[in-house]
Amino acid sequence: MNPAYTSQLCPKCHHLGRRQGESFTCSNCGHQADADLNAAKNILDRKKDTEITIYTKAKDVKKIILRRIEEEQQKQDTSKKPKKAKKAKKN
Ligand SMILES: [Zn+2]
Repeated sequence: MNPAYTSQLCPKCHHLGRRQGESFTCSNCGHQADADLNAAKNILDRKKDTEITIYTKAKDVKKIILRRIEEEQQKQDTSKKPKKAKKAKKN
């Protein structure tokens, strides 16, 4: 399994967070955890990942992570903004 970025990834929202010594903090969802436990969760998730394999280079792992974040944000954007125009306001 590929350990790249497992210590910097948020297991809840899959954004990149920050590891500071013993603790991990996600700047996106505010998730806080012990950095080692956090990495362990990501390692378990990574084992099931079919796109990131042992042969994926670290820089490509980051690209995949960033692409997934982007895709997730696009999904959220489209769900917030319905394609159809708003209903006319009642006067
Ligand atoms: Zn998060």
